[in-house]
Amino acid sequence: MKLTNKAGLPEPFYNAQLKCEKSYRDGRGATQRSLTQLIADPLSVRLKELYDDKIEVDLMDRLHILRGNMIHKILEESAGKIDIAELRVFADICGWTISGQADHLAVDCKDGVLTDYKNTGWYSLKNGPKREWIWQLNCLAYLLRLNGYKVDRMQNCCWFYDWKESEAKKAWECDRWYPEAPIMNVEIPVYSDKKILKYLKTRVKMHQEACKTDDPRDIPMCEDTWEGRRCKRYCEVKKFCPYMKKKKKSKKYV
Ligand code: SF4
Repeated sequence: MKLTNKAGLPEPFYNAQLKCEKSYRDGRGATQRSLTQLIADPLSVRLKELYDDKIEVDLMDRLHILRGNMIHKILEESAGKIDIAELRVFADICGWTISGQADHLAVDCKDGVLTDYKNTGWYSLKNGPKREWIWQLNCLAYLLRLNGYKVDRMQNCCWFYDWKESEAKKAWECDRWYPEAPIMNVEIPVYSDKKILKYLKTRVKMHQEACKTDDPRDIPMCEDTWEGRRCKRYCEVKKFCPYMKKKKKSKKYV
């Protein structure tokens, strides 16, 4: 993937983003999929693999990732002495090595508490934690348990980059939901290991199926495209997606 800097942002931003991408790739080691990739749609992940050398992404569109990484880095350095921060764990699922990274695991209390930091907009929490966040933490907890760690509770620590005090006041007056503060802990339900393993096996098999072909037309379209908004505005591989091409031909997005 080629990273561009069309707006000419200061070089440290560009270098920092390159460093983040490299450390993510190196940290994954010889795994077939990270949990993030596994939970994502097989088509988008496979397109990234197939067209890696042709994909161009601009730094401006990756600033949210950079900001998230900066937060992670500072919090990693500030973790308690016996807590575990930014730990990557691995497991074999249906013949593939899968890895996941824990942001923070508190081990100095009776329960093992796993926390995932989210740098996100407030709206993403309007209807409770997203389905993929719940699966991501449950799968990570499962991998941690397989590697000998104790995880009893899980939470997302959401830091809302768009939170406004004035909006919080208005929401309180109109009795509508809005986060009360810029940071909020959200408890994540704990699934059974049996349920998690079943989910993991299904996801691995879907991705393995997608890897059998070099022709993206053989892979099903992504499940949740947010009524096309994701394809049109946020997808980094839309240029190579056969379904996007079809839609353009039918003028749905033109
Ligand atoms: S354009 Fe849409 S369907 Fe195609 S890979 Fe991207 S998100 Fe998935």
